[in-house]
Amino acid sequence: MRMLCVQNFINGEFLSTDNYIDSYNPATGDVWAQIPDSGREEVGTAVLAAKQAFTGWSQTPVEERSKIVNRIADILETRIDEFAELESHDQGKPVWLAKAMDIPRAVHNLRFFASCILYDLNRSNVMDSADAVNYTIKQPVGVAGLISPWNLPLYLLTFKLAPAVITGNTVVAKPSEMTSVTAFKLCEVFKAAGLPPGVINFVFGLGSKAGEAIVTHPDVPIVSFTGGTVTAERLRRAAAPLCKKLSLELGGKNPAVIFSDADLDKCILTTIRSSFLNQGEICLCTSRLYVQQDIYQEFVARFFQAASELVVGDPKDVNTFTGALISKEHLAKVKGYVEIARSDGATVLCGDGVKELDLPEKCRNGYFMRPTVITNVTDDSRLMTEEIFGPVVCIVPFETEEEVVRRANSVKYGLCATLWTQNLSRMHRIAQKLQVGTVWANCWLVRDLNMPFGGTKESGIGREGAKESLEFFTEEKTVCVKL
Ligand code: NAD
Repeated sequence: MRMLCVQNFINGEFLSTDNYIDSYNPATGDVWAQIPDSGREEVGTAVLAAKQAFTGWSQTPVEERSKIVNRIADILETRIDEFAELESHDQGKPVWLAKAMDIPRAVHNLRFFASCILYDLNRSNVMDSADAVNYTIKQPVGVAGLISPWNLPLYLLTFKLAPAVITGNTVVAKPSEMTSVTAFKLCEVFKAAGLPPGVINFVFGLGSKAGEAIVTHPDVPIVSFTGGTVTAERLRRAAAPLCKKLSLELGGKNPAVIFSDADLDKCILTTIRSSFLNQGEICLCTSRLYVQQDIYQEFVARFFQAASELVVGDPKDVNTFTGALISKEHLAKVKGYVEIARSDGATVLCGDGVKELDLPEKCRNGYFMRPTVITNVTDDSRLMTEEIFGPVVCIVPFETEEEVVRRANSVKYGLCATLWTQNLSRMHRIAQKLQVGTVWANCWLVRDLNMPFGGTKESGIGREGAKESLEFFTEEKTVCVKL
């Protein structure tokens, strides 16, 4: 693929900038694109365009907004193969995965919000005591700043874009500097779908520069952010003086709680996916596996076998399960945790440092590592408390319900958990006690967009979903009329 030059998309036009930064193909280590190194100036231009477009777009009938967003979805759907290739190049994930999951889910996000807005009603109440009628009006907030990460580039971006624009806001979005090409190409789709200029503007660049310029811009009253917990802390401080409306979807350290009555065939198959899909670079991946003592040995043996057989390699190869990690720095960070395991005296059963990689020539400089399984690790180890965000999983035994709930809840994160048992009352009992935003019982990553999604504790503030996202991107005004 030839070198691409990404441009900012502002007011319906592709605009060049003075400075560019390199974007790497994680599977080869080669620079494959240049992206704008935008700052306050470019963000300022984009915010102005979005502000000017706001009057027209917020007054555009909902049916018309819905038609345009549906057209974006339709066009994207006809280009799934192309976008899957791009996303794989950008992020390192297998092409088959982008084709089966990321891009179809992005299409679904757009269609879902384009239709649910049509059935979103206002509220009313008659007060007989005061002889008055109250009703509500939902209004868009203004220019929304959308900041998204690299791990599911198009899926997470559209999960914000769709509700933001369908409710009548205009947008300045900053996708991750590491996966900007896919988002850049999406701008062609906006144009082809007839989206009016200025409704969606993309400014590409670094978080500390372009991202921060969005967060601190006085004409951006609302910011939806998905990314790391440490970044979010900085973002909250920057946004606080301006009293902005914030939604934060952050990191996790997700437990799988596996009881001895679990259907082990299904559990192992799914837990392999929940640990290693997308190189373990999904915020919802499981990284702490608590397995009940009486099946612990059997589970470890079978899980280790399954993990050892996963194919690591060229993302274009249909047999590849684990592609490349996002960057050289991230690979070094993830491998650093395996080193910590070794120096702490834990057992690295398979994966990094146990078996050499077997990569095709063109991938030799890529950022690959084998799915890694670790045992003999203590709950207070950094491996069990910090988000690793890579293909590394720890397995530890437990004995009782009470004990495993306490240990699963012992970290600062609270994004999601998986629970494996055939005992229905135990399933409901433990689901209630786990301090997380989502519990998946006997499954993983099954997403109903009607349901609220988000984290507890340091995994985030707010919820996304049909009702929640429409609420977040609107302000509800009460009108009280005396009869
Ligand atoms: P990150 O926090 O480094 O970056 C996320 C985005 O924020 C990027 O676009 C980045 O450029 C921007 N950014 C960085 N510094 C900024 C600043 N000071 N001001 C404004 N924007 C700034 O995260 P990442 O490495 O891209 O993504 C991985 C993290 O995202 C993991 O922690 C993962 O768990 C989390 N994540 C959470 C969810 C969820 O739904 N809870 C989903 C996906 C990823």
